[in-house]
Amino acid sequence: MSSAASVISLDTPLDQVEGLRPAAVRMLAKEGLATVGGLVLHFPARHEDRRRMDFKGFCPSETPVCHHVRVLKTRVLRFGQRGGVFETVVEAAEANPMHQQLTLRWFGMVYLQKVLAVDMELMVYGKIKEIKDRLLMDHPEYEIVRGEEDDDEAGIHSSRIVPVYRLRGGLKQKPLRRTTWQVMEQLPAAALPDILPRPKAGGDFAGMTRATALRTLHHPDGFDELTQAQRYLALEEFYLMQLRAVRRKLQFKHHGGTPQRAEGRLLAAFLETLPFQMTGAQSRSLDEILADMALPQPMNRLLHGDVGSGKTVVALAAMLMAVEAGRQGALMAPTQILAEQHYENARRWLEPLGIRVALRTADRVLDFDAECRTLEACAPQIPAADRGPDIVIGTHALLYERSAGNLPRLGLVVIDEQHKFGVAQRARLIAQGETPDVLVMTATPIPRTLTLTLYGDLDVSTIDQRPKERGKIITAVREVTKVEEVTKFVLARLEEGRQCYIVYPLIDESEKLDAGAATTGLEEWTKRLAPHAIGLLHGRMDTDAKESVMRQFREGSVKALVSTTVIEVGVDVPNATVMIIHDSGRFGLAQLHQLRGRIGRGAHTSYAILFVPKGDKEAMARLKLLEETTDGFKIAEEDLVRRGPGDVLGSAQSGQSPLRFGALLADTRLVTTARRLAERTLKADPELLQPGHAHLRALVGEEVFGKGTMQ
Ligand code: ADP
Ligand code: MG
Repeated sequence: MSSAASVISLDTPLDQVEGLRPAAVRMLAKEGLATVGGLVLHFPARHEDRRRMDFKGFCPSETPVCHHVRVLKTRVLRFGQRGGVFETVVEAAEANPMHQQLTLRWFGMVYLQKVLAVDMELMVYGKIKEIKDRLLMDHPEYEIVRGEEDDDEAGIHSSRIVPVYRLRGGLKQKPLRRTTWQVMEQLPAAALPDILPRPKAGGDFAGMTRATALRTLHHPDGFDELTQAQRYLALEEFYLMQLRAVRRKLQFKHHGGTPQRAEGRLLAAFLETLPFQMTGAQSRSLDEILADMALPQPMNRLLHGDVGSGKTVVALAAMLMAVEAGRQGALMAPTQILAEQHYENARRWLEPLGIRVALRTADRVLDFDAECRTLEACAPQIPAADRGPDIVIGTHALLYERSAGNLPRLGLVVIDEQHKFGVAQRARLIAQGETPDVLVMTATPIPRTLTLTLYGDLDVSTIDQRPKERGKIITAVREVTKVEEVTKFVLARLEEGRQCYIVYPLIDESEKLDAGAATTGLEEWTKRLAPHAIGLLHGRMDTDAKESVMRQFREGSVKALVSTTVIEVGVDVPNATVMIIHDSGRFGLAQLHQLRGRIGRGAHTSYAILFVPKGDKEAMARLKLLEETTDGFKIAEEDLVRRGPGDVLGSAQSGQSPLRFGALLADTRLVTTARRLAERTLKADPELLQPGHAHLRALVGEEVFGKGTMQ
């Protein structure tokens, strides 16, 4: 090997790497794996332990298993002209005193008769099932480990823990694995510079570098080392995310903001008129918000609290401080219904204080009452004619309002139910002109790990306490066949003067799914609950119709509301104490928890009845947690475990690169460590301009840095 040609880097094309088989290089190039870097960063999907396989029998199971087998017989079964099955009977390649046999089947893959032959040894990976005393594995992943011309070399494919890569197109496992092995052997550690600062000796990742972690990931010597390497690489990912978040946070703090400070007379008057006392957690959160608002740097804070914890009051209180300081407040809700409800509440509570409240949604603009008399405490320096609305409530339409310059003195923006708003919209709002204070509110009970991941650029206040004088919510999961008993129960509650929600997953049956639909549901429930008045609410109704049915429900002339999940967020009718949810199994746990948060808002005990199809044991078991707890955080954790972080993060994450080691998201320690490291790095080198940080800057992304935005 000539020494000049032997130094390779991530950019080296594979056809310039010595010792690789040209056929393998061609195959890889066809699938877009043309460089050393491409191969190194093509991570294994899983690993198989091929060091020493003690055969413990072929056992049927729900999860795939890996076996080392020898082929005893092969045959092809034909069906008609085209169809066919290729079958082989195998036994364990290791000592197998019981001579247990397993049949592998591949439907429609008759050509395998040219590939697999008697006496070959295979590694197979798949689920084993037992049908009529036969043990079967259908469409296993397989790899020939002995018997082919192309036998194992240097223990790459056997006698060790081997990587198994995801294949696509014409990729084949063995040449891919062999080439990756060869490339890793030649690649100098210097070609894989660290992303993370070097860990302290004796610490968690002592001695580990990016180079050793990647080597271990591809070719681990043991499973402990492998796990550690995966955690290290996860930490790298979190570190890059946190560098972005911390950087945005610092940048935001450097934008010009206006301190909003006043005596607090409006606020005091407001708290006086409230029919209740704020909880300790509400007061604490409000104090944190007011402290931020008083600073010259713009606030960028998340108010995080379970459904019904009372976020709205805190937000309105903060907006009053802005108004008293001579500014305007804007409250953005994700839906029309919610915006109108906030508007009603705000008017009821704030107009008596002389505050001008206006509504702006795409469909509707309601202006404040110009006659509204101002408390003298409020914004005395602003001439009445120039004052405009003090508080504007609306939907996304408000975003455009801002750009149209209709909120010239905007001091505080509150974004309700953040999870419905994208990061991009948030950015858009705060990117314009002078930066207002921003408060985002969410009821999604996010585990602490995810808060940092999703909202890493925000400060966080948490309302972790529910108002006291609240009735409990009792939740029951029932088969839908119990509908008559449930009807009796609901009728009894209606007789007592309470109200009820009936929720369906879909609006109509056009989606062809076997789901109850709100429109047919309306007919059925109208009969069942006669003579009580029933209303219908769904997203496709026009604004006036929606608003009118919501008003009737709020006033109590409509007793039961059949609806889709448009009521999921924020709707607040304390007299509604029963919620029936059809086809509950189709919702996630966290979403069901959100939905039932619509009840239990008054002093009465409330009841959530979750219908599942008859005999749906799976749904029954899954939803049981909702019967057992009303702790939103516990439910969120469970959802995270069940559905995986990808789903939970959902679109909230969009725009950011997906996490490849994201399954480790539940590892709080990694995320907090990443945060600490990112803060330390940016404190020492805010622009990442030090020589060792050049590649880091590129990885974090130029867009996060822009051109000299820091002042
Ligand atoms: P969420 O946090 O889900 O947005 P809301 O702000 O809609 O909750 O509040 C839910 C209900 O609780 C509202 O009717 C609100 O007026 C009421 N509420 C808020 N704070 C308190 C409190 N401290 N004591 C009693 N009721 C409260
Ligand atoms: Mg709310």
